[in-house]
Formats: sequence, C-alpha cells, structure tokens
Amino acid sequence: MDVPAAAPRPAERMSTADIREANVAAVCGALRDHGGLTRAQLGRLTGLTRPTVMAVVRQLAAEGLVVEEGQLKAAAGGGRPGTLLHFRPRARVVSAVRLRSARVEVTLADMAGNVLAHSLAPAAPEPGDWRELVASFAERVTALRDTHPDLGPLAAVALTLPGSIDRARGRWTVVRSEGWSDLPAADELAGMLGVPVAVVNVVAATLIGRLAQEPAAADSAALVYVGHGVGSAATVGGRLIDGATGSAGELGHCVLPGVDALCRCGRRGCVESVASAPHLRAEFERITGRPAPPTLAGMEACGDAAVLGMLDLAAHRLALAASWQVNVVNPAVVYFGGNVFTDGGTRFFERFAEELRALAYRPNAAGLAVRPLSSEATVRGAIQVASELLPSFLRPALRVVC
Ligand SMILES: [Zn+2]
Repeated sequence: MDVPAAAPRPAERMSTADIREANVAAVCGALRDHGGLTRAQLGRLTGLTRPTVMAVVRQLAAEGLVVEEGQLKAAAGGGRPGTLLHFRPRARVVSAVRLRSARVEVTLADMAGNVLAHSLAPAAPEPGDWRELVASFAERVTALRDTHPDLGPLAAVALTLPGSIDRARGRWTVVRSEGWSDLPAADELAGMLGVPVAVVNVVAATLIGRLAQEPAAADSAALVYVGHGVGSAATVGGRLIDGATGSAGELGHCVLPGVDALCRCGRRGCVESVASAPHLRAEFERITGRPAPPTLAGMEACGDAAVLGMLDLAAHRLALAASWQVNVVNPAVVYFGGNVFTDGGTRFFERFAEELRALAYRPNAAGLAVRPLSSEATVRGAIQVASELLPSFLRPALRVVC
C-alpha cells in the first residue's frame, strides 16, 4: 500500500480506506488531465507502485470508469510500449433540473461538464401536494436518461427552483404556492431517484456556471443578477456564501434612500422595486405608451431619451447597492447579468460598471473587474453543483459548494 505523491494528508494520519481513495483519485486525476496513459506512465505520474496501479486500474475498469484503447508504440529513446488507458467521462451522468415559468428543463451532462441531452416540458400543474411536482421532476430525468442507453448511470442531480433556497439544508424555503413552505425538496427527489441531490438558487447557479469556465476567478467573485427579481451571489475563499438560512445575496431587498416604491416583499424602497425587469418594462410602457420589448437591449435600441434616462437611473441605483456589496465582500470580479432579460444590454451594463467603480471605496474599486455575464451560465452552474456531489475521486477540480 503506498501513497501517491499528491496525497492530501500525511500517511501516518490516513486510514487504509483513505489511502485507497487517494490512490484512486490520483489515477483518475492523471487520466483526466493527460488523456491516454499506459500503466507504466501512470506509475511515474502518480508515484504509485506498479501493483497498486494495476489494482486501481482493475477496480476502475470494473466500474466502467476506465477503458483500454490503443497502444503506445515503443519510443526511439527506449520507452516501453503498452496498452493505453482512458478515463470515460460518460461512465456517469449528472443532471441539472430547472423549474422556470411553469416549465421543467432537464439537462444531462457527462463528468467533464459536456451537455449530452436536454428536454423541456410543461411542469405538472401545481397540485395540492408538492411531492407530485417533485415526482414529475424525477419522471422527466428518468425519461431523458432512458432515451440515451449508451450513457452511464445517473450519479447526481442539482435542482434549480424559483423563490428561496437553503442549499445547505436542501430546502425550498420561500415558495409562492399557497400552503407550501420550507420543503425538503432535495431529500424528496434524492429518495425518488436514488442519487444525491442539491438544490441551488438560480443566481448562485449562474455565478458558479461562470466560475466553472473561469476557475481563476473563483476565489473572490460576485454576481449582480437582474430578472424577475434582483439578486446577488458571491464567493469568498473560493466557496459560495450561503449564510445562516441560505439567504445570503438578497441584494434586491436592500433599501435605497429616497425611494418609496412598494416591493413585493411588503416593504418600500427595495432595490428590486426600482431595478427588476418587471419594473423597467412597466416604466418603458408608462413613458412610451407602447408595449415594452422583452429585453434591456430592446429597450435601449428604441433610442428614446426619457427611456434611456430611466435606464441610467436604474443602473445607478443598482450600482449603488452593488457598491456596498463590493465594499463589504471585496471581490476581484463582479459579473453583471445572467438572465435573458439582461443579455446584450450593453449600455445599461456600461453605466452600471462605470457607476460601480465610482461609488465603491477606492481601494476596493482599484483593479476591480466588472464583466457582463450571459444567461447560458445557469445550466452550466447546476451541472457543476451536481458534479461536486459525485464520489470524491470523481469530483471536478473546481469545488465551489462541496
Ligand atoms: Zn423587498
């Protein structure tokens, strides 16, 4: 029994099971990072002995995670030929499930985060029993998985729901359906599918999705999200901030001075009451007397000076609230957007970025990167969250929640 060079802990503190898991992780990691390798190359890369490499490869092959394919030819310098081993990212699949505007969107991805299949269907009409809604999610995931028999078994799921989520407790905490509150949605779906399930709110999923593509920014990042509501998410030390009740990031319910608009939370002056998509669209209709375009980009394109002034004021108010977040959390990068409503709204983004840099405390604003973020990040983030639920030796290198 030996310990790979990259073992996370000193050997004297590791149990036999720990050592075995570290050996498996080292072999999987080498194959994922380098592609096809012979057993001899695996031994050199991991520092493991040949018998250990052989045993680990046997175990991984039995689980379908590693396959033999192709031969390494003898090198001119005397390198030994050998059968090449490959990691199979499709040996397990993860699923992202999103309930959005009465529709259920299901995505299947492999362990490298590649999307393999997608379905979109009307959600079950909201019944009296929330378990029926969760059961419909399980049916959609199983149906999509069953149409792709070439893929490995489902291994983990991330569920994105509207309203509020307590990710750490796996609960859907603020549900707008009457009589529903604090629902153990993750445990319910996990019981139905027989795999681990995480719930994650749409804003956090969107930030995580961006970080999955830009891991260098994961240590200290924030997102300001504008859609039906206004929200934010942030990482500190590479980890998502959840808060005591999972409600960290409620930027939309920070109260702005001098604003009297009634918010759907029942209070007055919230950021959300003057910067959300429904508010901006209603203002567009009030100013122009015409139906509002569905996106910020569409509103900007109308060129009406009063509309642009209204959008500039909203960008300023949003930047003011975000500047408090920047001062408190001190992120290296702030992303803006993440919803189809904000996709392509370049003028609004530029105003927001400019005002944010001007309003934040100078040491926090110096070097602060402010970048637009597309709505495509959300599903990628849910896939990342599901991937972080895989057995430790199969998890991705980036770990934001687990
Ligand atoms: Zn509010």
